[in-house]
Amino acid sequence: MIVRGEGAYLVDQLGKRYLDGNSSIWTNIHGHGHPAIISAIQGQAATLAHSSALGFGNEPAAELAAALVGCFPKETLTKVFYTDDGSTAIECALRLALQYWEMEGQPERASFAAFDSAYHGDTMGAAALGGIATFHKRVSKLGVPVCHVKDLTHLIGLPPEEVSKLAAVVIEPLIQGAAGMRLWPKGMLSELRAWCDQHGVFLILDEVMTGFGRTGKMFACQHEEVIPDFIALAKGLTGGTLPLAATLTTQRVFDAFLSRPGEDRTFYYGHSYCGNPLGCTAALASLQIFEEEAVLAKLANKMEVLGSLLREWQNADRRLRDVRQCGFIAGIDIGDPSGAAFPSGDKIGAQVCLAARAHGLLTRPVNDTLVLMLPLCADLDDIRLAVAALQAGLRDVVPVE
Ligand SMILES: *Cc1c(COP(=O)(O)O)cnc(C)c1O
Repeated sequence: MIVRGEGAYLVDQLGKRYLDGNSSIWTNIHGHGHPAIISAIQGQAATLAHSSALGFGNEPAAELAAALVGCFPKETLTKVFYTDDGSTAIECALRLALQYWEMEGQPERASFAAFDSAYHGDTMGAAALGGIATFHKRVSKLGVPVCHVKDLTHLIGLPPEEVSKLAAVVIEPLIQGAAGMRLWPKGMLSELRAWCDQHGVFLILDEVMTGFGRTGKMFACQHEEVIPDFIALAKGLTGGTLPLAATLTTQRVFDAFLSRPGEDRTFYYGHSYCGNPLGCTAALASLQIFEEEAVLAKLANKMEVLGSLLREWQNADRRLRDVRQCGFIAGIDIGDPSGAAFPSGDKIGAQVCLAARAHGLLTRPVNDTLVLMLPLCADLDDIRLAVAALQAGLRDVVPVE
């Protein structure tokens, strides 16, 4: 039982402290209990905890929308639709894209392209996009029509009659998280953007994991100066304090939903807690911390230290089969002392993470990929502790002989 959070650390019911090595499943940004976020939530709770977004607005939601739009170049992504979590942020993008094409006289554009090993959430539509057998095999025939492609080359090679049926391509930019921190080749995202433009297909970016600094920039798409037609934000949006998500889109999409007399172009989609003032206030406070504490500027050195510790470890240890880093995110593939993969099903990755607990680190693997995704507030000592705890956990479970 976790009873308390203090900065980058969590405390259990016995009072033992652990470094939050996966940012509480990729959500926490500035540490637990950041005073600025706490007091913002407390103040808002006393003013207005919630009111419906059906026909009404609220100040934190409007201010946050402006702040999120302000994170992107002028007149690119200008509109914000709120939901509650990553899955529904994706769901919302899918529904907007489908309805857009239907209203614009291209109803045949009704399917989506998504990548093998992708993870976009667990609601029916989002799960249909997914390409990880464990999570998705039981739902693969439900949800929206999806064309699964291996990579960009596969997408480009699709027959024209398939391409003309695509409403959008959906991708986790730069790095696929749940797949085991798999990196896309450099430049792939901007090539994908160009292909989408060429074929009139929307580009939906799932930045639920990569958003809010994880990759070293505020958003992953900024590494390749790509502007999507839709971007889904969630996990880190509130600094990891409250469930809130946002789907940003363009003026072009927004305008298509304005009814002319005698028409009904309404987007019949919404959740009871859309635009929740508490979540929006927390998100505003989180964005302010990015500025006031120069979070991204300070991150550069931390990413470098993490990278050099991991390289040093990899060079000295044949049990590390591969190490991948994207900004402050790391995936470490482990194997046996000869460097071979473990038999799948032995769950060695899970055992190593369990062993690392005794050395003061909490994290979860993806199969035999150890995942390190510290809150951005982690300092150099925290980074050293995290790597040392994984090393010790691996030594406990897989001795070097
Ligand atoms: C976690 C995640 C989701 C789903 O978000 P939830 O808030 O868990 O619904 C979608 N896409 C990516 C890339 C994620 O990492």
